[in-house]
Amino acid sequence: MRRASERPSPVSGGAAIFQRVYTRLGCRGRPPRFEVEFYPYANLMHTIRLREEAAHVRLSDALRGAPSAVLESAAAILLSRIYRRRAPSEILGAYRQFVLLPRTRRRVAALRCARGRRVQTGPRGHIYDLAPMFTGLNRRYFGGRLHRPRLGWSNRTWRAQFGCFDPALDQIVMSRWLDRSSVPRYAVEYVLFHEMLHVKHPLRAARCGIEAHSLRFRLEEKRYANYDRARKFLDRLP
Ligand SMILES: [Zn+2]
Repeated sequence: MRRASERPSPVSGGAAIFQRVYTRLGCRGRPPRFEVEFYPYANLMHTIRLREEAAHVRLSDALRGAPSAVLESAAAILLSRIYRRRAPSEILGAYRQFVLLPRTRRRVAALRCARGRRVQTGPRGHIYDLAPMFTGLNRRYFGGRLHRPRLGWSNRTWRAQFGCFDPALDQIVMSRWLDRSSVPRYAVEYVLFHEMLHVKHPLRAARCGIEAHSLRFRLEEKRYANYDRARKFLDRLP
């Protein structure tokens, strides 16, 4: 079942923003009737479709709650594309900054994960095999009682997120980026352990990367023997 927030919803004031930017870009003629909604894309993407008198706009719902300057930027990007106008760079800046925020990047990565597909890869990577790793961690930290979801590697290399537990698909997906000999085993184990804690605390799981983890979760995470080393390794990454 989809959560309520997973459905498209109108962007309040969206039409006015698009009207304003339409004028600001110097588009000629009568503007279309703008219908603007947030849409649960699996990525940070936005679309505009002109049909007769109306322009149907879908903004990634990762922009929900973004300042109106960011929505104006997004409007400028879309309108400049279909009306072939150059958007002034000062109007695009807000969007660029917003996209680069660590918070936005985590959020987008989480959307990509939660709205992604069932992983097809299986637990065995080129370097690391997640199945025995899971069994070992389960024995050491969960008394061997943790349910084992499907385990796999992401098809693409995620940079903003190392792993993700998706309770709807009952799977842990690890970033392919970790499956390299230059990444130490304790760092991979730590990421898997973190996702296993999400399996243990399923209520918080779905929003990994969107909401902060609870204090209890953070304390429990520190039980991992190589916690400090692993954090240090992962935090140092560019
Ligand atoms: Zn998490």
